[in-house]
Amino acid sequence: MTTTRPMAALHERVAAINDVLCAISVLTWDSRTMMPAGGAQTRGQQISTLTGLALEQLLSPQTEAALAAAEDAVQTLPAEAIERNMVAQARQAVAHHRRIPAALTQERAALRTVAQAAWIEARSRSDFALFAPHLEKTVALARRYADCAGWQGHPYDAMVALYEPGETAASLKQLFATLRDGLRPIVAAAQTQPPCRRDFLFRDFPEADQRSFGLALAGNLGYDLERGRLDTTVHPFEVSFTREDVRITTRYRRDYLPASVFGTTHETGHALYEQGVDPAYTRSIFATDLIGLYAVGGTSFGAHESQSRLWENHVVRSRAFWRLHFADLQSRFTSQLSDVTPDEFYAAVTHAEPGFIRVEADELSYDLHVMLRVEIECALMDGSLPVADLPSVWNAAIARDLGLTVPNDAQGVLQDVHWSTGYIGSFASYTIGNVMAAQVMDALQAQDTTLAPALNAGQYAPLKTALGKAIWQHGRRFGREELLVRTTGRGLDPAPYLAYLRAKYSPGSAIQ
Ligand code: ZN
Repeated sequence: MTTTRPMAALHERVAAINDVLCAISVLTWDSRTMMPAGGAQTRGQQISTLTGLALEQLLSPQTEAALAAAEDAVQTLPAEAIERNMVAQARQAVAHHRRIPAALTQERAALRTVAQAAWIEARSRSDFALFAPHLEKTVALARRYADCAGWQGHPYDAMVALYEPGETAASLKQLFATLRDGLRPIVAAAQTQPPCRRDFLFRDFPEADQRSFGLALAGNLGYDLERGRLDTTVHPFEVSFTREDVRITTRYRRDYLPASVFGTTHETGHALYEQGVDPAYTRSIFATDLIGLYAVGGTSFGAHESQSRLWENHVVRSRAFWRLHFADLQSRFTSQLSDVTPDEFYAAVTHAEPGFIRVEADELSYDLHVMLRVEIECALMDGSLPVADLPSVWNAAIARDLGLTVPNDAQGVLQDVHWSTGYIGSFASYTIGNVMAAQVMDALQAQDTTLAPALNAGQYAPLKTALGKAIWQHGRRFGREELLVRTTGRGLDPAPYLAYLRAKYSPGSAIQ
């Protein structure tokens, strides 16, 4: 029996779901860039209606019939056949959503609105007690969700699976132990570095010139503006409505230049991934997260983050980059940067100093912030940490890991929006992205010795081509671990990441 017709019928169902999910993404992009504040409530209703519609389409008898016919048709194909992979992913998503009662989904959505409002209030007053009862409910609902979704080793496993399939509380514990041990001496050594000049980063940088530099930079790295655009937002993000329309956003601070330079680079890295997905996968299951109900080409949050961190930290936050491109930046900001050398600029943007806030953290302390959050999430999910104890556990960990005394809850346990929106399980992806970025970069440079000289000469197309071939083109066909094995010969391995940090931040590297 031929597979063509049943596969085409299944593809048609998935494509229609992808269309609805892309429409949700357009509404979300608009709400974060253009929409007046007054539109918030009705926009929330619109997105909720469309999400319900996508789920209805996925769980409809028509989709079930198309899926069953496709399952029949592909069963004689070899195990590695692409059609079998597509069908298996669709079945997994349908089975997942059938396990979650609609009432629980509604309860979680309703709590999100209330909990987020309470978090905003609690953070502005720096009073954790105002948020605690809502977090207790959030954790209780997350626990019920995990029990419905299914888990074996630890209830956290069901949450992290939404973002990083394959990772578990146990696997992360092992990864984090290696990272902590490896980071400790690097952080200690970096603290012996002589202080560097940073004053010039805080001068007055007009927004229009920041924007034109950011656009030129994104284009230079390979971002296709025929299929993309750059807009302004409060919290920068990237979003795609198929690979043909992949947008990035950034934030301009007049008094702090690195926010837009590295923010724009970071989102460009995400965008290159989405723009690089095989066009044949457009609107297919390989460009649709049917479990997360999100139209995306990247295979996991960590894999996505690996591409943004790779371009941000390995390419642009490098000495070679600023030796080549500082003159361009200086020519746009002549009065602000005339007394600065490329090496001084590089030293300033790689200056490592522990702080309280995750999103402002340098490369060395960033993962310590992430690991603390994941450990707390695991303890909340298994009930070993009562919500009321969160501030003291948080403050003790910041003292232990960063040697800092947290002055108040706003700068401590209340700083992130994630838990108020029910997003438990997503933090681990940030660190996985860092680890994967270094591992992929290391392997690609070993496989092709012309890549490093090209980067040193300001040629970014060879790296773009290599990443496209190794990672981007596959969309969601392979999971993150499979991509890593195909590209680097092994699963997630923190050794290249620690080696990269050691080389970049050891004393002496700043004056070579
Ligand atoms: Zn990112």
